[in-house]
Amino acid sequence: MNKTDFSSLPLSPALVDNLASLGYSRMTPIQAQSLPVILNRQDLIAQAKTGSGKTAAFGLGLLDKINPRWFAVQALVLCPTRELADQVAKEIRRLARCIDNIKVVTLCGGTPMGPQIGSLEHGAHVVVGTPGRLHDHLSRNTLDLSTVETLVLDEADRMVDMGFYEEIVGIVAACPRKRQTLLFSATYPDNIRKQSARFLKNPVEVKVESLH
Ligand code: ADP
Ligand code: MG
Repeated sequence: MNKTDFSSLPLSPALVDNLASLGYSRMTPIQAQSLPVILNRQDLIAQAKTGSGKTAAFGLGLLDKINPRWFAVQALVLCPTRELADQVAKEIRRLARCIDNIKVVTLCGGTPMGPQIGSLEHGAHVVVGTPGRLHDHLSRNTLDLSTVETLVLDEADRMVDMGFYEEIVGIVAACPRKRQTLLFSATYPDNIRKQSARFLKNPVEVKVESLH
């Protein structure tokens, strides 16, 4: 067994089989470095370029912990834009094809609140959204994050550059203290390092310089 085989990980066989059906035969370098840490339930800061497969790294990590019979938001992914949130939700749904009745809900601006509130009332296991809209839901009490076990900050550098820091602080405060936090970024400059330190507990840092 090669150490870049997904089957070398302590992942459920159903998730591994589904990866093969998606054509994912080997882990990408950032997946190989980060998945052992993620599946060990440690906090993580992962830095790797666009296109390196970061979504599946955190997607598999959060799906591995989901209990589909518990109708509560167990994982929250923050993304900088609606387009990125849609892409991440689509990838998580593909990775989760092997899990029955798992619901992934996207909460972004530019869409009416009503249907989003309806989706949440029907029970969501995973929420993917942008900081602005998530903050809106929290201020209206239409989103309960008290059951979140995995919090992902995707493209953290872009979210901070776009001025979302204060919203992120509010969203993180609505999550339990006892949780796993995963931060993904293409770059990791000093300002992001300082600002994100308060969100993570003894994070392991991994970095992949090049794509291949
Ligand atoms: P990033 O978030 O790092 O920019 P993505 O998660 O969007 O990258 O992944 C880029 C592309 O690589 C996607 O099309 C995804 O389906 C594909 N991909 C991810 N992991 C693997 C893998 N292990 N094997 C093959 N393709 C993969
Ligand atoms: Mg990405």
